[in-house]
Amino acid sequence: MKTPDAVQAILDALGRQHPNADTELKHSNAFELLVATILSAQATDAGVNLVTPHLLATYPTAQALAAAPVEDVEQLVHATGFFRQKTRSLLGMSAALVGRHGGEVPRTMDALVKLPGVGRKTANVVLGHALGVPGFPVDRHVLRVANRLGIAKSDDPERVEQQVTGALSPAWWTRASDTLILHGRRICKPTPLCEQCAANALCDFRTRSGRPAVARGALPGRPKAARRPARKGPARASGKRR
Ligand code: SF4
Repeated sequence: MKTPDAVQAILDALGRQHPNADTELKHSNAFELLVATILSAQATDAGVNLVTPHLLATYPTAQALAAAPVEDVEQLVHATGFFRQKTRSLLGMSAALVGRHGGEVPRTMDALVKLPGVGRKTANVVLGHALGVPGFPVDRHVLRVANRLGIAKSDDPERVEQQVTGALSPAWWTRASDTLILHGRRICKPTPLCEQCAANALCDFRTRSGRPAVARGALPGRPKAARRPARKGPARASGKRR
């Protein structure tokens, strides 16, 4: 396992390569992001962004969505796939928000994962991007990239979350997850583009595979930047699109 300094150096390098890493799920508050993240399972963010405007214009609050007819919600979310299961989650989650939290999205992991259809990844997305609470969502990209880099060693998302967050300041957690997700989508794909990777000199997978390291000046991104979280404060404030 790498030292905290080495983990930070890797995230610094990848942060320079992906300076605008952020969630792509559109939202204007925590409830909207919770809805969008539930819908994003097995769906693209772009596909979810086509569905949520109409859904949330029709049912803009937990109270409204909890009282919505099942058939109507199924029709509205149909394009995201698994529409019956997702509708059950949305209605159950909304009813739980109304019944347990006065219609508001709770600000703790413990309370969030008790909501129907909400797992640890979804909870971390909402905490980090809409509630200003540090969170480190682990999806398939984070799993793959973190293990290749050697900043985590596990197939268990919660274990990977513990390993990476244990090496980073909480101020970096959400930014780090967004950066690893974007890196997994663009560069460290299932077949990785190591020659284009800003962290290739620091990567265990690249070293084991015998691929050559690439000189820093040959890679995209700003050549030098002070170590800093790219966002102000410990995590995102609410109200901005994911
Ligand atoms: S060097 Fe290759 S395997 Fe390692 S993180 Fe970069 S793209 Fe992925």
